[in-house]
Amino acid sequence: MKIPMLDVAAQHAPVEDALREAFDRVMKHGQFILGPEVDAFEKAIAAYVGTPHAIGVSSGTDALLVALMALDVGPGDEVITTPFSFFATGGCISRLGAKPVFVDVEEGSFNLDPTLVGTAITERTKAIVPVHLFGQSADVAALRAHGLPIVEDAAQALGARSDEGPVGTLGALGCFSFFPSKNLGCFGDGGLVTTNDAALAEKVRILRAHGSKPKYFHAVVGGNFRLDALQAAILRVKLPLLDRWHEGRRKNAALYDRLFAEAGLPSASLRTPPRIYEGHVYNQYVIRTDRRDALQKHLESSGIATAIYYPLPLHLQGCFAELGYREGDLPVSERAAKEVLALPVYPELGEAGVRHVVETVVGFLRG
Ligand SMILES: *Cc1c(COP(=O)(O)O)cnc(C)c1O
Repeated sequence: MKIPMLDVAAQHAPVEDALREAFDRVMKHGQFILGPEVDAFEKAIAAYVGTPHAIGVSSGTDALLVALMALDVGPGDEVITTPFSFFATGGCISRLGAKPVFVDVEEGSFNLDPTLVGTAITERTKAIVPVHLFGQSADVAALRAHGLPIVEDAAQALGARSDEGPVGTLGALGCFSFFPSKNLGCFGDGGLVTTNDAALAEKVRILRAHGSKPKYFHAVVGGNFRLDALQAAILRVKLPLLDRWHEGRRKNAALYDRLFAEAGLPSASLRTPPRIYEGHVYNQYVIRTDRRDALQKHLESSGIATAIYYPLPLHLQGCFAELGYREGDLPVSERAAKEVLALPVYPELGEAGVRHVVETVVGFLRG
């Protein structure tokens, strides 16, 4: 039994005809840049997320970049974020000439630890960028108490909720990705910025098209950060299925939790991910084990794909060496980087798939 990390062919099988129709429609009307497909998608996804404004952009990375630009983040500014994330979270801060200030994560959720943020704030701090890692909301309410603008990196968490409400509605701006491995993926790169603030929304829209308003007049310097009409058309077909897919992921995660608990392994050898909020959408199901690398090898040789998110925290990346962080500075993230392993949890995996993965994992860890 071969098990991949994701099965996009199985995901698209029920909507293949609708996807072809969407492609044909775009080919016929020929409005490839913004236009009716992007407008219609933005309306649908704004309603789904629960914000009055949603702006389609070219990727999750560009969503973060343009959101920080909308807050005028630039040279001399500091932005507080987590070191335990995909590179783009820290990279975008640096690209704008600002300094990423990395604060460690909580042991259970792997999300930015709000109790550590206070001491990292200086008069230069311009924003806080929490990541809703693996599909579970960070504690944005606690972060908001510091009174700084919050940019939510919700790239892995479209549809997730905290006790307060849906991610992407909790801060000043929300950033999403439609990279194919996210819970809602397009056929390439795509992203989204959400906000409750009309002025910020207008700023993001202008920045998305070279800062142009009206056309060919530029009061600010923006970029080409547009979502393709073709990707928007594909996302319009897939969005109505997203909640069903989330249910499939939650069901798989709950079965993993139950079967691993029944196996009764010591916690050093296996820890399952805590579900802190009911509204977890399990973009990844990430276990921890002190035999991570050997377990990954064993699973690979058994035909089960896994992934390591992330093997080296951002504060220890070569490109950030001049920030002066040392090993040991952010110990929770550093330990996590050595112990985490993401198991397949995609909706089509199903009960037989989960049982097979659990048997293989537990068999190895007992041996
Ligand atoms: C995927 C991801 C991004 C970047 O999204 P792209 O669409 O790949 O540019 C940013 N942050 C996090 C946490 C991600 O998982």
